Amino acid sequence: MTVSQPNVAGLTSAEAKRLQDIYGKNELSPQKKETFFQKVLHILCEPMFLLLIAAAIIYFILGEPRDGAIMLIFVVGIISIDVIQEWKTDQTLHALKDLSAPQITVIRDGNEQRIASADLVPGDLMMICEGVKIPADGVVLRCADLCVDESSLTGEAEGVWKTPTGSTEPTTDYWRKDYCYAGTLVTQGTAVVQVDQIGAQTEYGKIGLGVAAAPQADTPLQKQTGKLVKTCAILAGVLFALVAVFTWFNIPDHPFSDRLIESILSGVTLAMAMIPEEFPVILTVFLSMGAWRLAKKNSLVRMLPSVETLGAVSVLCVDKTGTITKNQMTVQEIWVADGTEQVLVETMGLGCETDAYDPMEKAMLRCCEAHGISRESLFSNEFVREYAFTNERKMMGHVWRKGGRLVVAAKGSPERILTLCSLTDKARCAAEEQMQALSSQGLRVIAIAAAHPENEAAIPAAITDCRLALLGLVGLADPPRESVKNDIAVCNRAGIRVVMITGDNGITASAIAQKIGVPGSDNIITGEALEAMSDEELRVAVKTASIFSRVIPAHKMRIVKAFQENGAIVAMTGDGVNDAPALKYADIGIAMGKRGSEVSREAADLILLDDNFTTIVETVRDGRRIYDNIRKAVGYVFTIHIPIAAASLLAPFLGIAPAALLLLPLHVVLLEVLIDPTCSIVLERQPAEEDIMARTPRDPKEKLLTGKLLAKSVLQGFFIFAASFGAYFASLAGNPDNAPAARAMGLAIIMLANLFLVQVNSSDHDFAYRSVRRLSKDPVMWAVNLGTLTLLAVILYTPVSLYLKLAPLTGAQLFTAIGLAAASVLWYEFVKLVTKLRKR
Ligand code: ADP
Ligand code: MG
Repeated sequence: MTVSQPNVAGLTSAEAKRLQDIYGKNELSPQKKETFFQKVLHILCEPMFLLLIAAAIIYFILGEPRDGAIMLIFVVGIISIDVIQEWKTDQTLHALKDLSAPQITVIRDGNEQRIASADLVPGDLMMICEGVKIPADGVVLRCADLCVDESSLTGEAEGVWKTPTGSTEPTTDYWRKDYCYAGTLVTQGTAVVQVDQIGAQTEYGKIGLGVAAAPQADTPLQKQTGKLVKTCAILAGVLFALVAVFTWFNIPDHPFSDRLIESILSGVTLAMAMIPEEFPVILTVFLSMGAWRLAKKNSLVRMLPSVETLGAVSVLCVDKTGTITKNQMTVQEIWVADGTEQVLVETMGLGCETDAYDPMEKAMLRCCEAHGISRESLFSNEFVREYAFTNERKMMGHVWRKGGRLVVAAKGSPERILTLCSLTDKARCAAEEQMQALSSQGLRVIAIAAAHPENEAAIPAAITDCRLALLGLVGLADPPRESVKNDIAVCNRAGIRVVMITGDNGITASAIAQKIGVPGSDNIITGEALEAMSDEELRVAVKTASIFSRVIPAHKMRIVKAFQENGAIVAMTGDGVNDAPALKYADIGIAMGKRGSEVSREAADLILLDDNFTTIVETVRDGRRIYDNIRKAVGYVFTIHIPIAAASLLAPFLGIAPAALLLLPLHVVLLEVLIDPTCSIVLERQPAEEDIMARTPRDPKEKLLTGKLLAKSVLQGFFIFAASFGAYFASLAGNPDNAPAARAMGLAIIMLANLFLVQVNSSDHDFAYRSVRRLSKDPVMWAVNLGTLTLLAVILYTPVSLYLKLAPLTGAQLFTAIGLAAASVLWYEFVKLVTKLRKR
């Protein structure tokens, strides 16, 4: 499509819709979606389901089609649960992706709007500015100082200056100067660009870059549990053979085919009971639900593994301005070195951008107005040239022609400005003393200086070549956010080091750090000192330093590295284009949703929608909660599988007839129906434990399943097994005719114990009644618990019991079952009590 006349109003929504129908979405590779059928097939291929189906088939062969049919009903039930769950997680992940997808400002219907870059269509007018990664190819219609880094396309490192030509004449250059290319980066300036090509039709798309986007790799936890599942599966295979063989020898009087089938069936039951197929489900559900909950609290997780990593964060490197402080500045102090306050203030105003968006410059212009100097009068002078601000120089200047006289109005960090001023020793001392005094109040100090070149030819090429006269200093206050003090205290308690990174002066930063309670607030490393250090020295220095001052973005990378080499898990905030490498490198790169550049957002693991430090701390806390819950769920799965597996394992050794087993495959499946929602619903919603931010960060190398957790799970599982199997064995009394009632007893105990277990394990040291109290307000918990009880009632006291080979329990039996179930789990409360007493 060739570009027609620029249309200032942009497309209408209706046109955009129509064009999207024709050209599709602005995506390199259309998203593949698994069909419903593929999904079901996927689930069916898991070992657990293969076992289930094998068991059902065996039933049919065995001439018990009714049992086979019931099995199949359960299989359908479990598949439905799985499909719903996968659909829900998919939905969640998609919603998250959409939220954190790149956006772009366009003009549509005559208004500026933010839309997802994927929704761009040819003809759209997009507005680009510094930090934007250009999402589509297009013609530059209007621009101001537009410089684009096209190295991703051309390999050329030098920035390319763009200008509109206004003609559509083809040029000889392949890479046009009046054209912007998708995938390139705006390093300076602004422009309005009319979209020409989108998606795969862009130059970027044609090269095929980025098309083969890496598939989402497994997270470290997923890898760990993958191994765990494999180990269990191998173990299951071995025990399968063992049980099958034993059963075979147990029933020598049965006909051959019967013997074979019964043996296989007992083996299959055991294998089913042993495979912890819940593990992968737990991880995807917990991580994606966790990310979803975080999104609702203003922090967007871009990478799922970050949810795991969050809980292990031990060093938080945060920008001072805007994250710790409010970024609401006011000029609080003015110190005049030479001349009058009025001249100083006016020069300060002339040194600001005419369309100031930086809160500091806005504050300066407000100060001018308070001195009776309006913006109009300031900026009605003739603008001659600009010395742009850079992070490295930390100063800037404007040259104006005012009343026929040239004036260079410069402002910036006093250290730098003072080097450009010719001062007597005494005057320099006075200025430095003032700077010290203002900084130690936590004020940002800016030096204001001026020069008066004779004519335009005498204007120096760079600000560093100017000979300036110091007019004075201004001190700007930027109060810390109200909640920060409390958050820092939380971090201190949680063993998380807060490190302040700022382009500001060290004394200012230190004063603020002291105000908000950052420990070691007088331990400052300046950018200069950092540059002089070797990596080794820096590694030692970061052990105690809490403040990095006069930092440029390139330093951030070294700071992250130094902390990581000391074994820390580092979260780092950033907003600028140059922060992207450090954000990528940090374990958790945090971009600012409001003031951050698009590039920093793309490099980040986490986007902070409200730019607020409190949200970071909340996010870490939630990361800890999610990890905690994953461990609880893994422990739970182990525990609950033990009575099931042990019962299947032990029966043949005790010589129990296959038909009289505690758990037939049917019952194993029934329990699976219960275990799944317990994990993915109940344990996922467990609130954070009260002391979650009073612990030190977890060791990142620590295994999910520690020895302690395993021991606890095995012990708990063993007790439930003892209660259920004991009750069953006693009721059976060696007579297969008693099997239905005995089985009902054992099954009821496992199901009831399941309910108690969740409450007991909700904390390692808080008593269960607390968790009951906390969760009693949660309707979902009620639903799940009542659901379990209803299920128990249905399988025991309705005709269903007959099909499930169960018999109703008498009142007394039921009470015994409840008592035994409670006892088999609640003993752990004593362990908590004893630990508590011992700690005292
Ligand atoms: P921070 O890390 O606190 O956001 P910046 O990188 O924005 O700090 O700024 C660092 C220093 O650069 C400031 O302390 C100030 O001395 C100087 N500076 C920042 N913005 C301007 C500006 N618009 N004009 C002059 N000097 C500035
Ligand atoms: Mg700043």
